[in-house]
Amino acid sequence: MSSSDSTSETLSFSALGLSEVLLKDLTKAGFQEPTPIQAKAIPPALEGRDVLGCAQTGTGKTAAFIIPMIERLAQGAKGAPRGLVLAPTRELAIQIQQTVDRLGRSRRIFATTVVGGADMNAQIRGLRQRPDIIVATPGRLLDHMWQGTIRFNQLQIVVLDEADRMLDMGFAPQLNQIMEAVPEERQTLLFSATMPSNLGDLARMSLKDPVRAMVSKSATLATGVTQTLHHTTSSDKTPLLLSLLKGKGESVLVFTRTKHRADRLGETLERGGHRVAVLHGGRRLAQRRTALEGFRRGRFQILVATDIAARGLDVANIGHVINYDLPNVPEDYVHRLGRTARMKAVGSATSFVTVEDSRHMREIEKLLGQPVPSAPGSRPRFQPTPQSTGQRPRPGFNRNAPRQGQDQPRRFGSNRRRGGPRPTASAR
Ligand code: ADP
Ligand code: MG
Repeated sequence: MSSSDSTSETLSFSALGLSEVLLKDLTKAGFQEPTPIQAKAIPPALEGRDVLGCAQTGTGKTAAFIIPMIERLAQGAKGAPRGLVLAPTRELAIQIQQTVDRLGRSRRIFATTVVGGADMNAQIRGLRQRPDIIVATPGRLLDHMWQGTIRFNQLQIVVLDEADRMLDMGFAPQLNQIMEAVPEERQTLLFSATMPSNLGDLARMSLKDPVRAMVSKSATLATGVTQTLHHTTSSDKTPLLLSLLKGKGESVLVFTRTKHRADRLGETLERGGHRVAVLHGGRRLAQRRTALEGFRRGRFQILVATDIAARGLDVANIGHVINYDLPNVPEDYVHRLGRTARMKAVGSATSFVTVEDSRHMREIEKLLGQPVPSAPGSRPRFQPTPQSTGQRPRPGFNRNAPRQGQDQPRRFGSNRRRGGPRPTASAR
């Protein structure tokens, strides 16, 4: 929850105009009062307005669009998909479906998930159950649309969730195709943790006269996170990690820069006797599910992940986030730390910083507007330029560089054997 938003209305859900049955499901889910983004986005969405919603990670954006969707769809005739939620990753799609399962029960609103890497026929069977809502990643949704296994002539509501990340992952062409294929007469809700400038085009083409529901600056961290830096070298990272993990009982999420590094670190930790799982875009869906569920349930104490795999993941009680490698873009630092101290809990975040990283770390601190304290006894290996001089603008992150080459969405086209058919002319 964004506690930096001091104006956060302490509204009750009932004041938002929700039905009694849904209020009961919210109570059952442990939702006592709306989060700020929910308080801002739900009322206009219930009225049928388009909404552009922006709030940091972990602030309840999923329910901010699922709640009005359920209420509106419950009023209409069933039988065909009338709601579509687009999400960047399989894990997020599955999480969104779980939110529909929890909150839509009494209103009898059901969802099915359509994601890459999973069995196409099983998805077709799911679609035959006449779900009200389809939660999808863009590539696989297009496969189904081309094959005619999904038709959207009854579609009323489209949600673009984690829109910034979908663009980062190169989904803009797919999103354009999807938005052109869905009915013109519809409600569209767009949610994002940040509002980068390239989001403007997507917002303009998909939203009509939207209500803007903005909560706080994207670079705001949850206040419950205690941050620490460890100055180290590349070769000392693993021993340092092992020493930090010693005697630790809480769940730990470790970020690496690449899939390969995640795999290697996972193996090392396993050899060190740790219960560890690895999550990245190169893993098969079943492996990713096992990793995530095992981590959620505590079977694995440690999850080693890359940014793309971990984006938006909602796992309660992650006590510690460790940046084994710093993120490529400063904003991702905030997203990573958003994995801990979810809602009002507390957590800690440790970043390993090498000499080569010190410039990146300064960029991150600039974004945060404050320095991150070093761990006791941890000193930079060399004296970096004091921040206070700050006149020399340094070449910073290259925002246009691909973040994780192999994690790009080309997997939708390139995994013909494992996944569904490629959207080629022959598939049409
Ligand atoms: P975001 O999409 O903004 O990153 P999520 O939708 O994943 O955040 O929500 C983060 C967590 O907060 C989830 O575990 C969700 O169940 C919980 N949550 C959402 N809204 C509320 C609420 N009103 N009260 C209590 N918990 C909530
Ligand atoms: Mg989200």
